[in-house]
Amino acid sequence: MKSLESVVNFAKQKGFIFQSSEVYDGLAAVYDFGPLGILLKNNLQELWWKEMVQRHNNIYGLDAAILMHPRVWEASGHVASFSDPLVDCKECKMRHRADHLLETVGVEADDKMGIEVLNKLLQENNVVCPNCKGELTPARDFNLMLETQLSKTDDSSKVYLRPETAQGIYVNFKNVQTATRAKIPFGIAQVGKAFRNEITTKQFIFRTKEFSQMEMQYFVKPETAEKLYEDWKSSRLAWWESLGLKAENLRYHEHEKLAHYAKAAYDVEYNFPWGWKEIEGLHNRGDFDLTQHEKFSGKNLKYRDPETNEEYVPYIIEASSGLDRNVFTLLVDAYEELDARSGEEDAKHEKEVVLRIHKSLAPIKMAILPLSKKEPLQNICNEIQNTLSKTYMTQYDETGSIGKRYRRQDEIGTPYCITVDFDSLEDKKVTVRDRDTMEQERIGIDDLEKYFVEKFVV
Ligand code: ATP
Repeated sequence: MKSLESVVNFAKQKGFIFQSSEVYDGLAAVYDFGPLGILLKNNLQELWWKEMVQRHNNIYGLDAAILMHPRVWEASGHVASFSDPLVDCKECKMRHRADHLLETVGVEADDKMGIEVLNKLLQENNVVCPNCKGELTPARDFNLMLETQLSKTDDSSKVYLRPETAQGIYVNFKNVQTATRAKIPFGIAQVGKAFRNEITTKQFIFRTKEFSQMEMQYFVKPETAEKLYEDWKSSRLAWWESLGLKAENLRYHEHEKLAHYAKAAYDVEYNFPWGWKEIEGLHNRGDFDLTQHEKFSGKNLKYRDPETNEEYVPYIIEASSGLDRNVFTLLVDAYEELDARSGEEDAKHEKEVVLRIHKSLAPIKMAILPLSKKEPLQNICNEIQNTLSKTYMTQYDETGSIGKRYRRQDEIGTPYCITVDFDSLEDKKVTVRDRDTMEQERIGIDDLEKYFVEKFVV
């Protein structure tokens, strides 16, 4: 049974994810991506972009700035109500989210219940600090937006580090529509950083203060919104499954309480070692966002239908997911501990890790391994790597027994190992080993490119 701890240790040891500023004992809930982590993150981002922008004629890309006019966040409602219910421990000073504390003692709760209801439940259930059993303060709203100043001398220059990427899309709705002459329905997709001063951050990179979101906002005619929402709903969960996430670990969960503006809200959830949690939100936001930005900016953000001349505020369907959170989801799903399978003498009693990650997401696609460090074999390896590295991320490894090297590659999810041996000098063939089946095939060096083109069809 995999534990959160084993995946976290693995992610650090193998260079996927490090604690930020670790040499200074770290900065809580902030993380860095290491050499393998950034490859995996880039691959996920690329596949998402391909799915949204490349495979839809009517979805356009955007990269809006992190800093935005402060009125944006008044219009969006974030200044007034983007908060979590916070309680402090009077003894150890630890901070907790009231709804999460209630859940840990078996009381159903969520952050939209309101402070009064949460305080009543905390009292009725005699909830104390889980860390030191100390007394807690009553819950209060804690705004999650991080602020900074653009001028050292002028107090009115306060701006926020965006807590979501969506607003950059909404305020660019007219720009993108005009520039592309897009007709409704159309979408705008963006991947970028967001910041939230989260209170509960226990589960590694699941919930961090700095993270990236992948968001697609789809602008539609109000009467068509329900149907289009259902279409997106059926495609999004299937997309996560197509990346190899196990079907039994994925489900849709309907929000019990809708935000006041939302028409429909479902989350794609994944079954993490600590329970079912959101990995992507799918919302029908109605006309709330563009109406608010019209009101606060005084600009006309309506869409005029070129055929009927009808003017209206489009409804928005959003598909919003976390890039970092889902790197973690992929790691959790793909991580497997097995009884030693490499046959290595010194590893017989150890568990071996295999990262069964989808081939197209694997950080390293193929490892090139000479059976010996002799120069003629190294030369062949160099030639192979020079060819394959034009298309794929490859790795050369000549240290340790071949079994150990296979094991190292299995651990980081490399789908193929190419072994160059002394026969290769004669027959110009190499052995290609498959991570999952462990089957080995003898392939001509000149045929390798073609062989992998077929293997990596997505
Ligand atoms: P949660 O309930 O888990 O806090 P949320 O409902 O606040 O999530 P949204 O505002 O809908 O999340 O954000 C969309 C997506 O962004 C989420 O599905 C998640 O994948 C990601 N996300 C949100 N907050 C964080 C965070 N603090 N760290 C990492 N990813 C996050």
